[in-house]
Amino acid sequence: MSAHKLELATALSAVRQASILCGRVRAALVEGSTLTKDDHSPVTVADFGAQAVVLHKLQQALPDDPVVAEEDSAALMAKGNTGIRERVLAEVRQSLPGLEAPDILAAIDRGNFEGGPDERFWTLDPIDGTKGFLRNDQYAVALALIEHGEPVMGVLGCPQLPYAGQTGCLLFATRGGGAQIMPMADEKTEAIAVTSTTSPAEACFCESVESGHSKHDWSARVAEKLGITRPSVRMDSQCKYAAIARGDADIYLRLPTRSGYEEKIWDHAAGCLIVQEAGGTVTDITGKPPDFSLGRTLRENRGIVATNGKWHETVIEAVQAAQSM
Ligand code: AMP
Ligand code: MG
Repeated sequence: MSAHKLELATALSAVRQASILCGRVRAALVEGSTLTKDDHSPVTVADFGAQAVVLHKLQQALPDDPVVAEEDSAALMAKGNTGIRERVLAEVRQSLPGLEAPDILAAIDRGNFEGGPDERFWTLDPIDGTKGFLRNDQYAVALALIEHGEPVMGVLGCPQLPYAGQTGCLLFATRGGGAQIMPMADEKTEAIAVTSTTSPAEACFCESVESGHSKHDWSARVAEKLGITRPSVRMDSQCKYAAIARGDADIYLRLPTRSGYEEKIWDHAAGCLIVQEAGGTVTDITGKPPDFSLGRTLRENRGIVATNGKWHETVIEAVQAAQSM
């Protein structure tokens, strides 16, 4: 753990600040701003704002570390986006007072690394689960450190996930150091662990809200094969990994909706390590471990299955058997 002391302190502080920025933008939305159904500007503002905050803080503490992040500033610089750009700048300055516009835009663009088997890099999803953000459901700020193709540290900021009587928490893990949780509002940490549910039939499984991100009829067949009677819990973002890691659910199924889709490393690196360190198992739908060494995507994997690790193979078999029914 001490080997990554600076990294962990920086990551926790960065994700916390970015999560607070997202919560602030989201709260302004609830308070009756004039959002039309197709206006995604709040999520855009929070997305770029969160990326700027995290990447600026990483740059300050660890200037030599490259980052693979979802956004770049090109869209913000496009003509017609002046309004959104000004809102991003204002939000970032509220979190990190004194930053100039060029510093903020440069921070956003530090996320252009391509990944690969290199020594080490970070990967960030500034808002994972944008649909959840817009619906006032779950979303996450997800940051992971990858060394030699393996996540060695992961932090999930979950601004809407209840914990210890509060709304909002941070989950984090270092490889070999276990997984922990703390409230968004203070620093009291607690170790977390997956469930000890002994039979898959007793399991509670979770999946995406969006049927375009995970095939719901396939997962229903998997549940039937396993004898699961409880309905699935549908949740946006890597909060599903959080649910497995802290024992709220036993299985997370992410079943491909089309051939050719490559899962993004920033959608999985942090959550995957947190589940593993909480005692769970994460593979793709064929039982292969996710390979984070191949660039921006998990191109050698298909879908994701995360479980409490007690009967992972049984779930993989059910996923395979239910595929072509
Ligand atoms: P979730 O909140 O679990 O539904 O996942 C949100 C993530 O799904 C986003 O960050 C996207 O990167 C990712 N995504 C987009 N299209 C697809 C797809 N066709 N299959 C799986 N994931 C997708
Ligand atoms: Mg995402």
